[in-house]
Amino acid sequence: ALPAPRRRRAVPAAMSAEASRGVEPAEAAPGAAGQQAMLGEMAEDAAVWCAVNGLVVGDRADPRSGTVPGVGLVHAPISLLPARFPASFWKQACELAPIFNELVDRVSLDGEFLQSALSRTKLVDEFTARLLEIHEKMMALSKKEDIRLGLHRSDYMLDSETNSLLQIELNTISSSFPGLGSLVSELHRTLLNQYGKVLGLDSKRIPQNWAATQFAEALGRAWAEYNNDSAFVLMVVQPEERNMYDQYWLVNHLKESYGVKSIRKTLAQVEAEGQVLADGTLVIDGRAVAVVYFRAGYAPTDYPSEAEWRARLLMEQSSAIKCPSISYHLVGTKKIQQELAKPNVLERFLDNEEDIAKLRRSFAGLWSLDNEEIVKSAIEKPDLFVLKPQREGGGNNIYGRDLRDTLIKLQKEQGESLAAYILMQRIFPKSSLTPLVRGGDCFEDLTISELGIYGAYLRNKDKVILNNQCGYLMRTKVSSSNEGGVAAGFAVLDSIYLT
Ligand code: ADP
Ligand code: MG
Ligand code: MG
Repeated sequence: ALPAPRRRRAVPAAMSAEASRGVEPAEAAPGAAGQQAMLGEMAEDAAVWCAVNGLVVGDRADPRSGTVPGVGLVHAPISLLPARFPASFWKQACELAPIFNELVDRVSLDGEFLQSALSRTKLVDEFTARLLEIHEKMMALSKKEDIRLGLHRSDYMLDSETNSLLQIELNTISSSFPGLGSLVSELHRTLLNQYGKVLGLDSKRIPQNWAATQFAEALGRAWAEYNNDSAFVLMVVQPEERNMYDQYWLVNHLKESYGVKSIRKTLAQVEAEGQVLADGTLVIDGRAVAVVYFRAGYAPTDYPSEAEWRARLLMEQSSAIKCPSISYHLVGTKKIQQELAKPNVLERFLDNEEDIAKLRRSFAGLWSLDNEEIVKSAIEKPDLFVLKPQREGGGNNIYGRDLRDTLIKLQKEQGESLAAYILMQRIFPKSSLTPLVRGGDCFEDLTISELGIYGAYLRNKDKVILNNQCGYLMRTKVSSSNEGGVAAGFAVLDSIYLT
């Protein structure tokens, strides 16, 4: 059996019960010792639930867990109770999803805008330059993507200083955890059905989360639009992926609900086995591909050689539906996020003033580094900012003293090197005491959370087939960590409890 949770770090005496997750003073609430014992029991139930319901990831300790399915599984790192989240902010975040979906689509059609907004970044960031090069080639061919599929995740934090919901970023490629995220909501509901009375928590206040089935639906309907019954969905993956079960959940739904078969290939395999026929059909290993769904290709490390870039170009040139296309990918870069936040830029892409106002309300301060005044402020008060390069996947941002040192160094270098980064207002969510379960161990720690809202968008020429909010993912990290990758071991998967 799991031991009762232990405190990882001393909790400040000032922390009151209400700052601790979930545990509302209920009539039947057990004393402190009883509560610890109950959390231990819950943690064991949770770990069992994860195992029997596929809320699992590959275990780092097993070297084969990232390459061989079914080997070396461990329950996903989770919080034991859902995070309290005000219903008004939840509603606000959900309403933003279809607007962001639409925005991405509109911006993606303006190739000149993407090229010019990223033109200085390109000079100093080789990775962005390579993406732009593919984009430019498609522009030169006047290549039109009639069928466009977006599977996005817009991430937010609640800023305690301003009491507002602010966007961290919008992911347009490889948005992760739609599969496992839905399961965490179900796990928390199950736990509250059993323990909620004692804790004073009602399982009905956890919003339904259909992210996995809705993403599968979007992929299935895109496949149907492509209109080739014998074609496959190609999932492009990294050679080693410990988060493969999140991906297999989508594969499974696709097969069971839509009868659509998937193939799983790395960029290198696509290069070796792929070709584009004269009519534009992408064929991998003899099989026609209707939809290319990228769960790799967002980081420079995904392209260790020219072969991977050739694969990316090959797929882009084909008639297969790309999720994302090179344009959708570029729209999701941090630089474009910053450009869209400038005055009068949203107006170029959207007509509805209310929608524009809603988007703008969710924007934190974002600046390019040619704004000397902001760079000066950031050097003076580095803790109020985050310095971001054009990267995805966590662990790339710069904070605090490193931020100051980096800015000073970049300023000295003169030239264009500042153009590789953007500056962002640092958001400060309230922390709370949370019971976490990782690798079968339960412990409590001070945490902050980030809410991701999934969105699916599918259109064929003028017909918008889907424009939906599709469930959510809460990620919770110990507040002492700047970045909280779940895979990196700092964060856990979580769900929300509406208050
Ligand atoms: P990535 O594409 O690598 O996920 P993000 O912009 O999401 O890049 O940054 C990674 C993490 O850094 C976020 O999940 C969040 O924990 C933290 N972070 C990013 N921007 C901010 C911000 N403005 N204020 C506070 N934390 C931030
Ligand atoms: Mg990202
Ligand atoms: Mg992120």
